[in-house]
Amino acid sequence: MSRVTPEHVFQAGVVGAGGAGFPTHVKLGARADHVLINAAECEPLLHKDKEVLREYVDGVIEGTARAMEMVGAERGVVGIKEKYHAVIDLLRSKLPASMDVAPLRDAYPAGDEFIMVYDILGRVIPPGGIPLAVGTVVMNVETALNVARADQQPVTEKFLSIAGAVAEPVTLRVPVGVTLAECVAAAGGTTIDDVNYMGGGVMMGYLEENHDALVTKTTGGVIVLGDDHVVVRRRRQTWNDVARIGRSACDQCSYCTELCPRYLLGHPIEPHLAMRSLEFNLVGEANVIGTAYCCECNLCSLYSCPEDLDPKNVCTQNKRRLAAEKRRWENPPFNPRRPELHMENRKAPMGRLMQKLGLKRFRNVGPLRDELLPARRVGIKLQQHIGAPCESSVAVGDRVERGTVVGRPPVNDGKPALGAPVHASIAGAVTAIEDGVVWIEQ
Ligand code: SF4
Ligand code: SF4
Repeated sequence: MSRVTPEHVFQAGVVGAGGAGFPTHVKLGARADHVLINAAECEPLLHKDKEVLREYVDGVIEGTARAMEMVGAERGVVGIKEKYHAVIDLLRSKLPASMDVAPLRDAYPAGDEFIMVYDILGRVIPPGGIPLAVGTVVMNVETALNVARADQQPVTEKFLSIAGAVAEPVTLRVPVGVTLAECVAAAGGTTIDDVNYMGGGVMMGYLEENHDALVTKTTGGVIVLGDDHVVVRRRRQTWNDVARIGRSACDQCSYCTELCPRYLLGHPIEPHLAMRSLEFNLVGEANVIGTAYCCECNLCSLYSCPEDLDPKNVCTQNKRRLAAEKRRWENPPFNPRRPELHMENRKAPMGRLMQKLGLKRFRNVGPLRDELLPARRVGIKLQQHIGAPCESSVAVGDRVERGTVVGRPPVNDGKPALGAPVHASIAGAVTAIEDGVVWIEQ
């Protein structure tokens, strides 16, 4: 086996494929005793992590082994829903002695890395911390596959699930830079006329108004929903309505807090207190400091609240204002014993969540179609990661091959800024560089 280094991982442009796109070489430059592979994929209707694991199991295992070498970990664990028996059996037949599988309950949010680290290792990441604080690196399945390939090929492809109101729910393998609309068309098109795209999932995703938005290294999926779907209606609610209705209808029952996964971990987030603050103002003033520790999982708003109020939005408004005002606790209060007391019996079962969100009417499948989606034109975004946007390293008229670097993080005082290079995903000519996108046509 080849030896992959953090420098290979950087040059290949590997970033977290399942979240915000944190540059993976930075994570793998640290020290940890465990590497966890996050295959929990708890967003309803998404299937790509399980499908990638099934099709590329050897690559994911190799990427995990390479990551373990880089951080000095003695053990690697793949966290996956216990219902995926065939994939678990496949993994168990192939994993080396230094790795194992942790079957997880089919509950939301099993894939939140704080919850996963607790479920698998019994370690509680402190409020505001990261998994490294408890000796752990967490990587998405696709990220592990990209690490395995990092010394041979840069990241130019993405896997994503297309689901909801489409003719053929599917997991696609596509060049980075195609449009979401092309992906939906590849799933047989939509089965409704009033089409809305939920990018990334119904719980933590966003309503994407631009159907020609570009696939990046972090795009996880598109769920197509109609105008009248509860998830779409909730996303379209204005802040004034959220605050006005919340103020008059919240009865302080505290269910939002009692089921909040971060509260259950012992973190100082209590969404009912943020709701209570609406009594005093309707502008989401930053007056409840614990909201800084909300992970925006949306469980309180879309599952827990019996009044269908939106405590998540109230928390995030509060949180953004706290961040803008640079207000935070130096030592946030923390109850590390709370998870032992409450965690296990307060998880949200996936079946009940899907029922509540009206998602059971859709086929909950997403088989991988492994041939790469053909593309004649792509737009490579210069920012697909946390950190500084890349600077373009090509000019209009240049010819590029698949894998050519088209953007690099800026260098300040001889050091590259936090980020990762971006690469051409098809061969062709650079036809435009505008609004942070390098356009390439065959
Ligand atoms: S669950 Fe709903 S009604 Fe109960 S405290 Fe929270 S926001 Fe208010
Ligand atoms: S969105 Fe709601 S349930 Fe999720 S962490 Fe924030 S307050 Fe808790």
